[in-house]
Amino acid sequence: MPNTTSLTESEASVLSSVPKGLLRNGSWVDASTGKTLGVVDPSTGEVLVEVADASVEDARAALDAAVAAQPAWAATPPRERGEILRRTFELMTERNEELALLMTLEMGKPIAESRAEVAYAADFFRWFSEEAVRLDGSWSTAPDGKSRIVTMKQPVGPCLLVTPWNFPLAMGARKIGPAVAAGCTVVVKAAKQTPLSMHALAEILTEAGLPAGVLSTVTTSKASAVVSSLIDDPRLRKLSFTGSTEVGQSLAEQSAKGLIRLSLELGGNAPFIVFEDADIDHAVDQAMLAKLRNNGEACTAANRFYVHESVLDEFSSKFAARFETLVVGRGTDAAVTLGPLIDQAAVDKVEELVASAVAEGANILYQTPLPDSTGYFSPARVITGVSPTSRLVTEEIFGPVAPIVAFSSEQQLLDWANASDYGLAGYIFTKDLDRAVRVSEKLEVGMVGVNRGVLSNPAAPFGGVKSSGYGREGGHVGIDEYVETKYLSLNVG
Ligand code: NAP
Repeated sequence: MPNTTSLTESEASVLSSVPKGLLRNGSWVDASTGKTLGVVDPSTGEVLVEVADASVEDARAALDAAVAAQPAWAATPPRERGEILRRTFELMTERNEELALLMTLEMGKPIAESRAEVAYAADFFRWFSEEAVRLDGSWSTAPDGKSRIVTMKQPVGPCLLVTPWNFPLAMGARKIGPAVAAGCTVVVKAAKQTPLSMHALAEILTEAGLPAGVLSTVTTSKASAVVSSLIDDPRLRKLSFTGSTEVGQSLAEQSAKGLIRLSLELGGNAPFIVFEDADIDHAVDQAMLAKLRNNGEACTAANRFYVHESVLDEFSSKFAARFETLVVGRGTDAAVTLGPLIDQAAVDKVEELVASAVAEGANILYQTPLPDSTGYFSPARVITGVSPTSRLVTEEIFGPVAPIVAFSSEQQLLDWANASDYGLAGYIFTKDLDRAVRVSEKLEVGMVGVNRGVLSNPAAPFGGVKSSGYGREGGHVGIDEYVETKYLSLNVG
C-alpha cells in the first residue's frame, strides 16, 4: 500500500480487503490503460490506496454490460429482486463497523456518523426490497365505455448513477435501491475522492446475489469525459445525479439531446428559523445536528440561521457554548465530534466566505481550536451580526460555520428565506402550530423540518425545488424515477 500514514491493524485490514478495480460483468478488472488514482485520507492529506482510473472505453464497456443484462433483469421476478436487496440490507448491517471505518478513512467524518450513514444507507435497501413487489398499474373504463384503459409500470432501462463524496454510501444506496427494485441495470460513477465505500457496497450486492452486469462501477479522474460519453450513448435511458448545481445544470443541457430521463439532487442553502416562542434549548440541540452533521458538508445543512431579535442573544450564546464542547480531529478517534473537510479547496472556500462576512462587519462569537495536523481541518465557528446579503448567507458554505442573522417579523423572514436560488430544505422552530403550517407552506423548499434538525428518512420523499433540482429519492415515489408508465387500450366489443 502506498500510504505513509501509520494505520492501525483494523484500518490496514479494511483497506486491503476492499476491491480496487472496476466491477464489470461480475468481475473486478483493471482500467484498460492500467492507470490508477490515489484515495486520500483528508485528516492527513496522505494517499491511503490506489484504485483503477477508468477511461472512456472502460465506461462504454460498463454500459455494454448494463445493456446486455437489462432484458433478463427486467424479467426477473420482483420478489427475487427484492430478496437480493433485503440480503444487501442484512449484509451491510452485519458489516456496519468495517464499512464505517472505510468511510471515515476516505471521507473524514467522525466514526459514529459513519456508522449512522451505513445504517441509513442499508435502510434504503430494506425499503426498496419492500417496494420491489408493490409496483402496480391500473384498470379503468374509458369515458365512452368502448375500451378499457390498462396501465403498467416498466423499468426505464440502463441507468447512469453519479454520486458525490459527502455521503459515500447513502447517495448511491438511494439510487441503486429503487433502480434495481424496478428492474433497471446501472452503471455507478462514485466520486473520485470516496470510491472505496461504493466498491465495498458493490461487493456486498454481488455477494447478495445480484447477477453479473446488473451493476458496474466506474471510478475515474476524468468525470466530465466519462459521463458525457455515456450521456451521448443512445442506449442510456436515465441519468440520476447528486452533486453541485453547476454540474447538474451542465448535465441537464447535455441530456437534452438524447432526451435522457433525469433526476437531479443538487446544492442547498437551508434556512434554520428560530421564532420568539421556540424552545431555545431544543432549537440549539437540533441546530448542532443541522449544522455540524457530516462536518457541515451536507446538502441539507443549515446554511443560515434566522433568529428572532428577541431571542437572538440567548440562542447565540447557548449555541456558541455547545461549539466549545466540540472535539476536532481524525474521525477514527471515538472522542472526535468534528472531522476535516474533504480537501484544501473546501477549506479555502470556507475561509473566503468567512473573511468576506467579517470584512462587512460580522463578528466571530466562537471558533474551535484546530489539531496540529497536515489534514484539511477548518474551525467550527458561530458568527453573529451577519448581513442578510452576505455571501456567507447566499452561498452554500459546505463547512462548520453558522452565520446568524436577526429578524423582526415573519414577512421579513420569509422574504429573506425565499430570496435564494436554492430550495432544498428548511427548518422551523416554534410552538405555534398555525405559524408552523403557514411558514412551511410558504417556504420555497422541497422539505421542511418542524422542530427537527434532521430530515433524512428512506420512507420519505427527499428532493428539492428551484436550483436544488428535481425528482425525489425515497418514499413511495422514489421508485417512480426508474419506471415508465405504459398504457394498453383494450377494445371491448
Ligand atoms: P460535484 O463536483 O458536482 O460532483 C458530484 C459528482 O459529479 C462526482 O461524482 C463528480 O466526479 C462528478 N462530476 C464532477 N464534475 C463533473 C462533470 N463536469 N461532468 C460529469 N460529472 C462530473 O459535487 P461535489 O462537490 O462532489 O458534491 C457536493 C455538492 O453536492 C454540494 O453542492 C451538495 O449540496 C450536493 N449534494 C446534494 C445532495 C442532494 O440530495 N440534493 C446530496 C448530497 C450532495 P469527481 O468526483 O470525479 O469530481
